[in-house]
Amino acid sequence: RAKSDGANRVAVFDESMQDNVAKRMDIEHALHGAIGRQEMRLYHQPIVDISTGRVTGFEALIRWQRSDGTIMSPATFIPVAEDTGMICEIGAWALRDALSELRGWIDDGVVPPSTTMSVNVSPRQIADPNFASIVRHALSVTAVPAHLLWLEMTESMMLDEPELAENTLREIRAMGVQLALDDFGTGFSSLSLLQNFPIQRIKIDRAFVQGIAENTNDRSLVRTIIALGQSMGLDLVAEGVETVHQLQSLRDLGCNKAQGFLISHPVPAPAMGSTMTALAELSELSLFRATTAG
Ligand code: C2E
Ligand code: MG
Ligand code: MG
Ligand code: MG
Repeated sequence: RAKSDGANRVAVFDESMQDNVAKRMDIEHALHGAIGRQEMRLYHQPIVDISTGRVTGFEALIRWQRSDGTIMSPATFIPVAEDTGMICEIGAWALRDALSELRGWIDDGVVPPSTTMSVNVSPRQIADPNFASIVRHALSVTAVPAHLLWLEMTESMMLDEPELAENTLREIRAMGVQLALDDFGTGFSSLSLLQNFPIQRIKIDRAFVQGIAENTNDRSLVRTIIALGQSMGLDLVAEGVETVHQLQSLRDLGCNKAQGFLISHPVPAPAMGSTMTALAELSELSLFRATTAG
């Protein structure tokens, strides 16, 4: 009996494995040509200055609207795109699209000319010997000044070929592009990355921001990350800010910028005009005035 239970368990396990393989093959198959079919979209999440509530920039977050109409999150398809190498094409498209949206918003007066655009990049892109020229080209065709572009990287970028990554990042940095370390504090080598790579910004992971108002450990961790960032002269952005309490705590601790559902969800590009209007009112009214008083 025990044996047949065991056999059943194995069978179930196999089925779910097959399921995963099938899902993955489906994603991989459908990803081919997705850019050409214009199925990729960028949403943009505002990043605000904590002391004024003003929008200083956006983070571009990719969405995939498949031909059957379903929208797939990057957490699901980016890993597949990374494994297959398709991330290089997708990443180049995202860079170019994000910068041309920014160009358009600046030209149309939707955002001030100092507004920045943050684009997430995968380790595989950074390991691509053409990456620096892809970045240079995207900046030149969109006529966006290099210092308005932020590239967001996680620490996995250095796992494969740290020297190649370091050289590429130095070349990109030399153009004036700024570099951010994403999901800071969640990996094992956050500190050595700060030592070895030319980083200008730390993004404090949502996991720490979540508990900041109630949990003393989370608060201590965030306090320490902020002190570290300040002592290295880095810009500090808190991600995943969902409550006024979290925003107040971050402000009290000296964090520069915030991003999260409290301020705005990621929005599709055509909604940026109305989002900026709503956010301008927000900074005039309650939210940021309230944190100043507190
Ligand atoms: P990330 O760069 O750390 O992006 C932050 C994620 O947190 C986004 O998820 C965003 O929608 C979500 N988020 C923002 N504010 C809040 C909040 O207040 N609460 C909660 N619960 N979540 C919040 P998203 O858009 O699903 O992206 C997931 C990840 O996919 C990103 O993490 C990034 O690593 C990757 N990604 C997204 N777009 C791209 C891209 O164009 N290229 C590459 N290589 N990776 C991308
Ligand atoms: Mg990011
Ligand atoms: Mg992040
Ligand atoms: Mg992340």
